[in-house]
Amino acid sequence: MPRHRLPQLTTTCRSPDLAPTLARPWFSPRPHLGENQAYNGIMTARPTTIADFPPAIIENLSEARRVHVFTGAGMSAESGLETYRNDKTGLWENVDPQAMASIDAWARDPEPMWAWYLWRAHVAEEAQPNAGHIALAEWEQLCDSMLVTTQNIDNLHERAGSQHIAHLHGSLFAWRCSICGRPYRIMELPTQPAARLTPPECPLCHNPVRPGVVWFGESLPQREWELAEQWMMIADVVVVVGTSGVVYPAAALPRIAYECGTPIIEISPAATDLTPLATVSWATTAARGLPELVAKVQESRG
Ligand SMILES: [Zn+2]
Repeated sequence: MPRHRLPQLTTTCRSPDLAPTLARPWFSPRPHLGENQAYNGIMTARPTTIADFPPAIIENLSEARRVHVFTGAGMSAESGLETYRNDKTGLWENVDPQAMASIDAWARDPEPMWAWYLWRAHVAEEAQPNAGHIALAEWEQLCDSMLVTTQNIDNLHERAGSQHIAHLHGSLFAWRCSICGRPYRIMELPTQPAARLTPPECPLCHNPVRPGVVWFGESLPQREWELAEQWMMIADVVVVVGTSGVVYPAAALPRIAYECGTPIIEISPAATDLTPLATVSWATTAARGLPELVAKVQESRG
């Protein structure tokens, strides 16, 4: 039995009122603050270059023993993986991504979804980790321990060399039986997109194999969720990269670090719903910002 009810992936919701579903005694969400509004008397710093970072934050970053990095779609944007939003195949141009990401849609008609996820896996396999993924793997070597909690399903963090990854939304490469859960290996991904494909049968129970990703209406994987929650509490610093902070429950995680008073560094080209929680919010991209940040950590550690 899970020790608490696992939160389900929900459609975008801008209300921080969902946060209490975490049901922690110390968890008392503060009123939602607008950009650059003060909390605890401190403004969110919005530096334009790393040279403008508050010196105390550089110190936090270089002395941090446990680093928790929390990543979203923006992390992989410079690897060319914004897929369905700028679908180049034309096949899914007018498809609502949420229609391809719900358990109900799968139950109704798995074939379009199976074709779509195979294609996405192919595209992810062709993509390369960017300088941001690589910088994180380098940083892991410098600190005592690092956890990368990602909402991405593309496996680019592990391909860049990160060792400890919590896949909150599963992985494009973790196919499994839709009923008995037995893992399934796809030997070869299609190199051409198709509108419909029939999912293979589980060799054990003969039910259809499904993508190993978390769909709307499904619970997040327990081990990953608990690890992410725990690391939001124990990390010395939390770095939030490329996430808009609108898909719950993942978006509620940085709030835990905020409630713990942990420094939060956000890297995002535009302000997000998480910006008011950040100690520093740097308007840059993952592939530009992270290598500079890690170089700074290296430099200050001598
Ligand atoms: Zn099965």
